[in-house]
Amino acid sequence: MSTSPPTSARRADVPSPFAADRLPDGRRRYGHRAVVARRTLLAGVVLTGTGAGVGWSRWGGDRAAAGTDPAGSPASSPASPPAAPAEPAAAGAAAPSTTDAASPWVVVNKKHPIDPADYAPAELATVGGEEVAAVVSPDLTALLGAARADGVDLRITSGYRSREHQRAVHERAVRRDGLAAAESVSARPGHSEHQTGLAVDFGSGTEPGCGLRGCFQDTTEGRWLAQRAGAFGFLLRYPAGLTEVTGYAYEPWHYRWVGRDLVEQVAQRRAATLEEFFGIAGGTEYT
Ligand SMILES: [Zn+2]
Repeated sequence: MSTSPPTSARRADVPSPFAADRLPDGRRRYGHRAVVARRTLLAGVVLTGTGAGVGWSRWGGDRAAAGTDPAGSPASSPASPPAAPAEPAAAGAAAPSTTDAASPWVVVNKKHPIDPADYAPAELATVGGEEVAAVVSPDLTALLGAARADGVDLRITSGYRSREHQRAVHERAVRRDGLAAAESVSARPGHSEHQTGLAVDFGSGTEPGCGLRGCFQDTTEGRWLAQRAGAFGFLLRYPAGLTEVTGYAYEPWHYRWVGRDLVEQVAQRRAATLEEFFGIAGGTEYT
């Protein structure tokens, strides 16, 4: 059951609430409003296809608000990195790799296959009935526990998928939906985040029919997740209206564990995608 308002009723035009005061020592001081906004951003609500486009300077509310994939839109090609990609701060240590499939910061998309192609996580753990990379287990377990404590029946429908499993998933989707439609949501083998064990598809226990469907965003579980996932190190990986960047349609059920530190940094940079944050090419075309 969903008691959510229609998508169109969600707030739009919230004026740049992210601003933080710069303290003399360079630290930022966030006011209450900024904290709330950042918390919202962390949760991915702003990014989850509300079309709100809350004052994005670059990926622009216009793009999201249009609710379409502006193929061929000029000057904003996702292939061109943002003007100032983030320099991730890793608290004095070297930043985790974005190419090592075992790294929590790895970026896998249609331009960047998993390397090696037959990669599998060294250690898997079973959480909520599905396997994930062991490193994800503590946060995912905590997330499920928090949902349960809130009376939210969050399920996990898919975690780690081997290359061969992904091949079967992709082939089934192509048979069912045709190549173009299938590839808007299903990766070719060797290109799926699920093969890293760091991606999780969530489902709704109260509305199982919304599994892997857009209506998941309006389920009690989908809404809870959009609010809280960031606090457990998960990012909404395929926000609405950014197919040309991520290569995928809006998937309100697909979250990617990157760890809380990167969630925080992405929020601070107001980045909507990992591609934008790191300045890494993405898009719908396979290399
Ligand atoms: Zn997924």
